[in-house]
Amino acid sequence: ANCVIACPQGLPIGEANKAAVAGNLEPLANLFDICVGCGRCEQVCKKHIPIVDVIHKAALPLVRAEKGMVRVGRGPVRDTEIRNVGAPLVLGTIPGIIAIVGCGNYPNGTKDVYIMAKEFVERKYIVVLTGCGAMDAALYRDEDGKTLYEKYPGDFDGGCIVNIGSCVANAHIHDAAIKVAAIFARRNIRANYAEIADYILNRVGACGVAWGAMSQKAASIASGVNRIGIPVLVGPHGWKYRRAYLGRKDVDEDWMVYDARDSSQVRIEPAPEHLLLAADTLEEAIPLMARLCFRPTDNSMGRQVKLTHYMDLSMKYLGAYPKDWPVFVRGEADLPLAKKEEYLRILKEDYGWDVDLEAKKIISGPIRKMDVGFDATNLEELLKENK
Ligand code: SF4
Ligand code: SF4
Repeated sequence: ANCVIACPQGLPIGEANKAAVAGNLEPLANLFDICVGCGRCEQVCKKHIPIVDVIHKAALPLVRAEKGMVRVGRGPVRDTEIRNVGAPLVLGTIPGIIAIVGCGNYPNGTKDVYIMAKEFVERKYIVVLTGCGAMDAALYRDEDGKTLYEKYPGDFDGGCIVNIGSCVANAHIHDAAIKVAAIFARRNIRANYAEIADYILNRVGACGVAWGAMSQKAASIASGVNRIGIPVLVGPHGWKYRRAYLGRKDVDEDWMVYDARDSSQVRIEPAPEHLLLAADTLEEAIPLMARLCFRPTDNSMGRQVKLTHYMDLSMKYLGAYPKDWPVFVRGEADLPLAKKEEYLRILKEDYGWDVDLEAKKIISGPIRKMDVGFDATNLEELLKENK
């Protein structure tokens, strides 16, 4: 049918309408959560059926029965909270901030954002939500009948879930990242945009996620967080703005950063590899979110934590380890202890690294060695010799 071809979600509208005519409204009602309300089906419908209205009407009992439990939007992250999380965030032992922002109409229904938030809060990331995403994540309950907001605390800390506020409160998420630079690292925030963005890009593991059918406003918010060095993952509807900032991890010169201590140039791992990209499915998105939280300043403990989640999530959602995981290994100390032997064997046998399996040591293979004092920057004015 024309409507099915026109529908960006490929929804079986014709079949659902037929079932409705025969007295069964359920198939039509079930389209409600996945329909993005774009109206394309109506434009091509030769019988002029008001399809969106019909879907809404059929789903009314479901909508009326929808009940959630959301914590009130709390506004800015407090300075005291930043003092507590600054060091673990920059060192990577809190593996990252996952910011699920804005609009609904998700590619596969509302439950997607709940699954994302649950996955990362259980893994002790800081999960912050805004706008429709914050409310949608509150519609589902676990086996004990609890929503995420009832189960996890509302602090800005690892393993907590924070409703920052409405979609316009997204600015408080920018603010939290800026505060890490200002309060934890004491960087000057007045007329100093480049330094703050450079700090966040190289040190603050964070990933914004706009999974729904983004509004123009949400698209510009995504660009806004990109400007301060935070990568953003959008759902398939994000493609419509035809904008992406994709990195090429195979191009060495794209990954040269300065070490401010001695002005040397260091080829770093692609962390984060992209600043703005789209994923088609939830299964693709979740491991990507973990990947976008790596940063060059992770210490070995932090890198172990991030690698554990990246590998686990890839296995869980895609059924395999990611192909690129060795780029994040700077030495054997970066490997999660529980899997060290397995990973060393893979590095040797599948990636051709020189590994002494008996001594559990990597002889050669990594892009660079771990250096605790590495003072990564892209800005020449921050080099010690230029200060
Ligand atoms: S309004 Fe809903 S059913 Fe119609 S084309 Fe858009 S997504 Fe498909
Ligand atoms: S812009 Fe509209 S759809 Fe998007 S989060 Fe805000 S209220 Fe929801």
